[in-house]
Amino acid sequence: MASLEENLSSLQKHLASFREKGVMHRIAGVDESGTKTFPTLTPIDESEICQVACGTAADINKAADAAHAAFPAWRDMPAKERRAILIRIAEGIEARAEEIALLECYDTGQAFKFMSKAALRGAENFRYFADQVTSARDGQHLRSPTLMNITTRVPIGPVGVITPWNTPFMLSTWKIAPALAAGCTVVHKPAENSPLTARLLVEIAEEAGLPPGVLNTVNGFGEEAGRALTEHPKIRAIAFVGESRTGSIITKQGADTLKRMHLELGGKNPVIVFDDADLDRALDAVIFMIYSINGERCTSSSRLLVQDSIREEFERRLVERVNNIRVGHPLDPKTEIGPLISQEHFDKVTSYFAKATAEGATIAAGGTSESPGYFVRPTLFTGANNDMTIAREEIFGPVLTSIPFSTEEEALQIANDTSYGLTGYVWTNDLTRALRFTDKLEAGMIWVNSENVRHLPTPFGGVKASGIGRDGGDWSFEFYMEQKHVGFATGQHKITKLGAS
Ligand code: NAD
Repeated sequence: MASLEENLSSLQKHLASFREKGVMHRIAGVDESGTKTFPTLTPIDESEICQVACGTAADINKAADAAHAAFPAWRDMPAKERRAILIRIAEGIEARAEEIALLECYDTGQAFKFMSKAALRGAENFRYFADQVTSARDGQHLRSPTLMNITTRVPIGPVGVITPWNTPFMLSTWKIAPALAAGCTVVHKPAENSPLTARLLVEIAEEAGLPPGVLNTVNGFGEEAGRALTEHPKIRAIAFVGESRTGSIITKQGADTLKRMHLELGGKNPVIVFDDADLDRALDAVIFMIYSINGERCTSSSRLLVQDSIREEFERRLVERVNNIRVGHPLDPKTEIGPLISQEHFDKVTSYFAKATAEGATIAAGGTSESPGYFVRPTLFTGANNDMTIAREEIFGPVLTSIPFSTEEEALQIANDTSYGLTGYVWTNDLTRALRFTDKLEAGMIWVNSENVRHLPTPFGGVKASGIGRDGGDWSFEFYMEQKHVGFATGQHKITKLGAS
């Protein structure tokens, strides 16, 4: 793996065009500078990377018109041709994976160690959904005595994709790949804090032969560009990834135009460690699921529920490992945690240190920060209970709250006592307990004796305040497509006659 110095030198090459032109919108295959700009900063030292076009309702309108105009030809393109373009996009991503990773780390503060794989996961999303293209429209034969009923699926139309700043490239592909595979056209509004790699995605897609207007990118803030997208009458659906509060706001914004909404929202996910578990593997997974990706991860296991009988020893080992985690420059291949995304987010995450002690918890590791840059030491709170703010609110940083329990019933009660329900992780070697527990655990996704291992055909999504709808496999097409029923009569059934005699 390249050294920090080598990565920094490659980064400079990739930054050159951004420094020169800034990040522009891309609408109908054309660069648009818009009427105003805002700066994007690197969280490494808070310096400005470049200016970014700041989308307005007029920019969104132009992009929605472009997506609307491009829709019929994209929808009607033979599936094999659409598939070939998606495969070429995957190849384009693979060819530029290092550039994507370096820019993503510089823009977001995520460690290169993890981001180098995130770009490739983006390519995988395109490959997986490319392979589904040829069967996406297939339906069913539902024969009745006098009718041959068939169903088919058709793409819903132009859709809006609104994404957050944590692993922005991978999350964008996760939404955009199935939308394009379904035959929809897209207006993408990336997060204002991480605009760089969304620009690379649209560039790669067009170079791969995606017709102009099929994927359009408009940068800017949620309250202006995002809002206009959710309210636009030509946009049929919104695929959204972000905070639960924002999900609720955009649902209201989309109400007047009856938007279909897919919401992937926040989490306060429990990892439950029973005393009969493989504790070495559990320890590795607990650490990985909260401290990788800077803890800025919707599926992070931010509440550790650990059984009384093993708590002391488990927490002792945890503290030792957490204190060893390497915080540093995200482009250093040895770095495990980079700086948080922004000043605002840094202030939010670090505010929980005082809240924890004020409510009676102990800071067993971390609890410190470093500037310039938004660096936070990985933090562990012990002696907590589930009523504390640190157990209830999504902190979205490298911060773990450890809560003891004594019985299975108590663990279940604590695990479900939250407004969220995205993921749950259960560590036990008792098979029947695992069955009982997962059956009652309120979460959209649960892993037993494992960290989150994503498999694209499986459904991804949350319950309660963690979201509505599912991604992955055919579930993605259920969102981006409409079911259509057609009944062909054999001419034999009786048609009730009115006014006939
Ligand atoms: P956020 O909700 O602040 O912003 C997400 C996106 O929504 C951004 O592009 C933003 O500009 C836009 N937006 C904000 N207000 C809007 C409005 N009124 N109308 C339209 N768009 C608007 O979220 P964030 O801080 O960028 O991301 C972190 C959150 O995302 C966390 O809560 C995390 O759990 C969640 N997340 C969830 C998943 C998942 O799959 N469930 C995955 C990643 C992140």
